[in-house]
Amino acid sequence: MLRDLTISKIVEGIKKGQLSSYEIVKECIEEIKKDNSSSKPINAFITLMEDYALEQAKYIDEQRNKLEGKLLGVPIAIKDNINVKSFPTTCASKILEGFISVEDATVVERIKNNFGVIIGKTNMDEFAMGSSNETSYYGIVRNPHDRDRVPGGSSGGSAASVAANQVVCALGSDTGGSIRQPAAFCGVVGVKPTYGLVSRYGLVAFGSSLDQIGPITKNVEDAAILMDVISGYDPKDSTSVQVEKISFHERLKEPVDSNSITVGIPEEYFTDDVQEEILEAIRNVLGLIEKRGVKVRKISLPRTKYAIPTYYIVAPAEASSNLARFDGVRYGYRAKSQDLLDLYFNTKTEGFGKEVKRRIMLGNYVLSAGYYDAYYLKALKVRTLLKNDFTNAFREVDFIITPTTPTTAFKIGEKTSNPIEMYLSDIFTVTVNLVGTCAISLPVGSDKNNLPIGMQIIGKPFGDAELLRFARFVESLVSS
Ligand code: GLN
Repeated sequence: MLRDLTISKIVEGIKKGQLSSYEIVKECIEEIKKDNSSSKPINAFITLMEDYALEQAKYIDEQRNKLEGKLLGVPIAIKDNINVKSFPTTCASKILEGFISVEDATVVERIKNNFGVIIGKTNMDEFAMGSSNETSYYGIVRNPHDRDRVPGGSSGGSAASVAANQVVCALGSDTGGSIRQPAAFCGVVGVKPTYGLVSRYGLVAFGSSLDQIGPITKNVEDAAILMDVISGYDPKDSTSVQVEKISFHERLKEPVDSNSITVGIPEEYFTDDVQEEILEAIRNVLGLIEKRGVKVRKISLPRTKYAIPTYYIVAPAEASSNLARFDGVRYGYRAKSQDLLDLYFNTKTEGFGKEVKRRIMLGNYVLSAGYYDAYYLKALKVRTLLKNDFTNAFREVDFIITPTTPTTAFKIGEKTSNPIEMYLSDIFTVTVNLVGTCAISLPVGSDKNNLPIGMQIIGKPFGDAELLRFARFVESLVSS
């Protein structure tokens, strides 16, 4: 099997002529097709780009001596809310049925410039709203570790496809946890970069002040390589930040001075509500790093309990504005209608799913005159207080360690009837988006049902390279 190789191994093998991109890509595609015809398919892909990918791979094999790229010949999957020119972008919604992207997202352009081979667009929760991949118009995604359980969401297809070795690496997007939570549920690595580090140009906006694209990979090294490819200033995204361009991958190679690192453990994240096996796995990791000289100390992030309510005001508010453009005139699906008002009404009624409608209504409500001050403005103020919590904590510690999720992967259908319970599965991840900083989810063990356990490490804003380096150090201790 070649598809279980990591990025660096594949690139090295292809450069030396020992590996063929065509063979690897073919293996991935065959595996996906085989799985699609099984009785409980993972269903990680909405669009499979078979002909395109095989042609690209063939070209790369033929031209390998002339080509230079960090992803030379590596199969990669892209979440279906990120545009890939000439292919559909569905956001897993009926409302985008028939829509074909007219250009590449900046991250996709950068992947192509580095000769990554895009093999398909991955399934997700509709418009990235959800934590279980059950809101997709294109069907649920199953967790490869247990096909009766969810893969997490909203980047469920990206995480599941990497975990099942259907692809080598993938891109997801994270508005409140959508990279880290599915990564934790599927036992892979997921990175939410600092806001502004990765261009959002060509990503269909959900919560514009929260969204970031990031890597989902098998290990930290691959995540660093992908970060090198996708990060960096982009004049097409006004929120893209001009920071000194560093190589995340090179930085990984520098040794970690563990004696000079202090890690904070926020008491608000380690409660009785967290599955005991998750707490145990994290305690075990803390023991390992302490043995290497890392100082571990208790901290407090006192406003943690306000994170979910704040997120569920800010994110729907932004979504209600962003999703107004899907009106049956400009993109995708158009419902039958008598006049213009009817067209808007019918298209949105038929095109959007239940969760998306719920968010649009919630968003319009909190932004409406009379409620704006009470909800939206208040949420923005609390967001600042949450930010202050982190600024204070980072004066004393270098990283913050928390569980990624309160439980391991739950059963399909278990939370669909109770949206609040579904929202609470992001309780440990949403704050990072509200604050705008970076975090990673690392697999650190499994529970008694053999379901993966994820641990979150939160880094300082724009400390993404240090975060990855420390995560790599932790990963080496966990896997040895
Ligand atoms: N699960 C969260 C939500 O439903 C986060 C989603 C995301 O990060 N895109 O909004």
